[in-house]
Amino acid sequence: MPEHKHPRPRLLSFFLCRCPRCGKDKVFPNSILNPGKFAETKYACDNCKLGYEPEPGFFFGAMYWSYAIIVAIIVTMSVAMSIIGLFDYAIVGIPIAIVVLLPVIFRYSRMLMLYVVYPAMYRGHYQKQA
Ligand SMILES: [Zn+2]
Repeated sequence: MPEHKHPRPRLLSFFLCRCPRCGKDKVFPNSILNPGKFAETKYACDNCKLGYEPEPGFFFGAMYWSYAIIVAIIVTMSVAMSIIGLFDYAIVGIPIAIVVLLPVIFRYSRMLMLYVVYPAMYRGHYQKQA
């Protein structure tokens, strides 16, 4: 089996939204700042041909990751805002921050599916060569 070596540390490939197997191709073809197209996800890696959706509805699981990320944002911001004495504004500030960060939350939820769930649950598919 030829190995797929990432051109950089895997964690960095994760944050740059690159293919979980080879780390070369971008998972999302459009800019994160494009409000109409930030959610578009490629079907497969152009480099190693890994299909990003091993079965229909695979990215449905990303919903659970977004939930976890949003809870983390709420907890972190609540603590931070109470430390700096602005907790009274948390009821407005936290929802605004979540809405502004939606594209980021969306993308990293999918990236967590690709980097954590995919290799764990679809190992055979993940290791298969094109
Ligand atoms: Zn790839």
